[in-house]
Amino acid sequence: MALFDKVYSFDEAEKVRRLGLYPYFRVIESEQDTEVYINGKKVLMLGSNSYLGLTNHPKVKEAAIEAIKKYGTGCAGSRFLNGTLDIHIELEEALAEFVGKEAAILYSTGFQANQGAIAPLVGRNEYVIVDKLVHASIIEGCRLTLGKMFRFPHNDINALEKLLSSLEYDRGKLIVVDGVYSMEGDLADLPNIIELAKRYNAEVMVDDAHGIGVFGKNGRGTSDHFGLTDEVAIIMGTFSKSFASLGGFIASTKEVIDYLKHHSRSLIFSASMSPANAAAVKAALEIMKSEPERIDQLWANTNRLRKGLQELGLDTGKSVSPIIPVQIGTDLDVFKACMMLLNEGVFVNPVVTPAVEPGKAIIRLSVMANHTFEQIDFALEKIEKVTRQLGVLV
Ligand code: PMP
Repeated sequence: MALFDKVYSFDEAEKVRRLGLYPYFRVIESEQDTEVYINGKKVLMLGSNSYLGLTNHPKVKEAAIEAIKKYGTGCAGSRFLNGTLDIHIELEEALAEFVGKEAAILYSTGFQANQGAIAPLVGRNEYVIVDKLVHASIIEGCRLTLGKMFRFPHNDINALEKLLSSLEYDRGKLIVVDGVYSMEGDLADLPNIIELAKRYNAEVMVDDAHGIGVFGKNGRGTSDHFGLTDEVAIIMGTFSKSFASLGGFIASTKEVIDYLKHHSRSLIFSASMSPANAAAVKAALEIMKSEPERIDQLWANTNRLRKGLQELGLDTGKSVSPIIPVQIGTDLDVFKACMMLLNEGVFVNPVVTPAVEPGKAIIRLSVMANHTFEQIDFALEKIEKVTRQLGVLV
């Protein structure tokens, strides 16, 4: 077999393209906001992770522009060597304070944060235990550890307990969960997970990519929402969602952060967050703290959309967040739904196998604080039309 044989025989994407239903890498020609332009046509964006709608906020944009003026466009090196700016340190201190931890360290993406933090923390003869539905970047981190990885069925506390009880009490154990699950929109059962962690001598890490800016006081995240900030050992966050930027962070004790600063390969061997990205996050954080009404609006929109979908008779799974899955069925029907909705003026994301079981494919809707009720109602009207045409609603 030649190296590229697999490349030449890969035709799954082409098959969907030939049907005119390919829903990936769609090109947006405008700002990422509640409405975007695709092929010159304005469509409602119901697939963005910018929950607080800050990507277009004048203060966030201004902060990024000013940072470029002051620091230039890039840091030309890693944090470890020449790439640490004063705004990186200020942002780390502000984030640590915000999520209620002693210290924080920035990474250039959320993916790198997970990958880079988990790998060095779990040593030989130690265990990392993850929920089956955690984000891919967590799995990447687990693959890079010298320890052993276990996965438990989604939020299944009994299965987690069974697993923990089978492991040696005095061996290091890290349990990693998402605060808010990125496809299902449900929450980790943190109270029970923390209790088990205490009983079985494990530490808990929460990936709060979709929780920060959404849950807890002023958007402090799911650990704050459950009143468990002190019990969660490590909080991870990303800036590509509510923070309207790019990058990620890990927050924990001073000692854990110092250890990561000297062992985390995606930190040490990768260039630091660009000045514009860091400044945008700082500005977004100030807005989160000073404008809680944005979060209230996000929830008002979320509740209106979810209730509307349920009243239509659609299955929105276990979602309790601005991430709302709508059960469609086959992968092909999901591709059709995405294309039909786009033609009707609504952008939604497909989630198909292997991310979900065969026949359980969904469209994933995500709500923003600056959607209007008119936009939500427009989306409901179009989703009803398309799901009726597809026979999901009868
Ligand atoms: N964790 C979760 C739960 C995510 O959904 C994502 C992004 N989709 C990441 C981590 C990675 O974050 P980033 O996009 O900033 O690399």
